[in-house]
Amino acid sequence: MKLFGTMSVVDNMLEIGGVSMKTLKETYGTPLYIYDEVLLRETASLFVDSFKGKTLEGVVAYASKAFLSIAMAQLATQEGLAIDVASAGELFTVHKSGFDMSRVYFHGNNKLREELELAVELNCGVIVLDHRNEVSLLESVLQEKGATMNVLLRVNPGIDAHTHEYIKTTTLDSKFGESLFDPEIMNVIQSINDSVSLNFLGLHCHIGSQIFEQESFHKAADEILEFYKRVLDETGIRFTEVNLGGGFGVYYTKGDKPVTLDTFLPELMDHVETQVEALGLGIKRVIIEPGRSIVCNAGSTLYTVGSEKLTMSGKRYAYIDGGMSDNIRPALYQAEYEAGIANKMDQASNTDYCVAGKLCESGDVIINSVKLPHVERDDLLLVPSTGAYTYSMSSNYNKLTRPAVVFVRDGHHQLVVRRQSLNDLTQWDLNI
Ligand SMILES: *Cc1c(COP(=O)(O)O)cnc(C)c1O
Repeated sequence: MKLFGTMSVVDNMLEIGGVSMKTLKETYGTPLYIYDEVLLRETASLFVDSFKGKTLEGVVAYASKAFLSIAMAQLATQEGLAIDVASAGELFTVHKSGFDMSRVYFHGNNKLREELELAVELNCGVIVLDHRNEVSLLESVLQEKGATMNVLLRVNPGIDAHTHEYIKTTTLDSKFGESLFDPEIMNVIQSINDSVSLNFLGLHCHIGSQIFEQESFHKAADEILEFYKRVLDETGIRFTEVNLGGGFGVYYTKGDKPVTLDTFLPELMDHVETQVEALGLGIKRVIIEPGRSIVCNAGSTLYTVGSEKLTMSGKRYAYIDGGMSDNIRPALYQAEYEAGIANKMDQASNTDYCVAGKLCESGDVIINSVKLPHVERDDLLLVPSTGAYTYSMSSNYNKLTRPAVVFVRDGHHQLVVRRQSLNDLTQWDLNI
């Protein structure tokens, strides 16, 4: 198990932020989401500090769907991040945190009228139009409210980078965005620009997630900026912003080679500045939208081991007190994780285990095969790098209560989302 941030071992016991896993278990129970606040803040400020341009302004908008709570949005404010949201619920949570709403970007391929109304009421900074059909809906909301709105248009630059390398294609079937290769695209752009209630800032693209190749991001920037030049030449429209999305790859298990942010980010900015200059574009601001790469490695999940099982075929299970309800990623897309026994950190890991949850699905497995020390009841099992897309995708399947979230730092621990109680589980139910 790779140790991240402030993780350390003291007397055979894992600590994060100077707090032992035993203390966290005794104070909050398990399963528990633990965020290393120092690593979280360091990563956020590394993004902000490394994505400052010489001629252009760099904006780092945290993609809040990776992990959102009031505390996380407040931390984003303190670290100078802007924020991306993709639903009324995310918009509302960010608003409740006291966030500067002018720094909020609202995404989504099917924003509802009520969501657009809420965005306008809360003075959301930018709405990212996903499709030409969204234009008239937003215009009608704005007319009703006597308001105007900054917009970007999401486009598909034909760079498909869902794997370790990019593929250039003109026939993407993505549900997101307008294709740059659509023969109507200039008319769509012209009509958004002509709208009196919309202030058209530029284009947005997001080429995928967990991408390790720097080249893919440079190619996407090139495609977009060359298209800006075409827009300028053919329509005279000078965009002022470009949004290059997120998707920066992180470490989960051996073999993942994440981008080195402190060189990758300045190089990306440099690349954009050079292209903008060479093409004579009027861009003032470049936005990126990291989600996973800000929160993933700072978060871990702590579980308590129940019993063990050795099947007749020789497979050894370690059962934990959570599972797919607190981390759906392995079941959803075969995500892989490492693990350690937090109270046996100095013991050799030489027994192969399948770490399985307690929910009623055979697919409820967190790790298919991991080497651990011999596991016993009440051991504390830690799965690192669960900071992204776990809490935010958690469910109440089997009526499990959603775990608490705690921030740890400098020997202190602070509850930021309380554990659901059994009463919470029935609070929406009505008698017949
Ligand atoms: C999900 C998403 C992101 C963040 O992706 P990560 O892989 O978490 O960095 C950024 N932009 C958009 C539009 C997204 O949908």
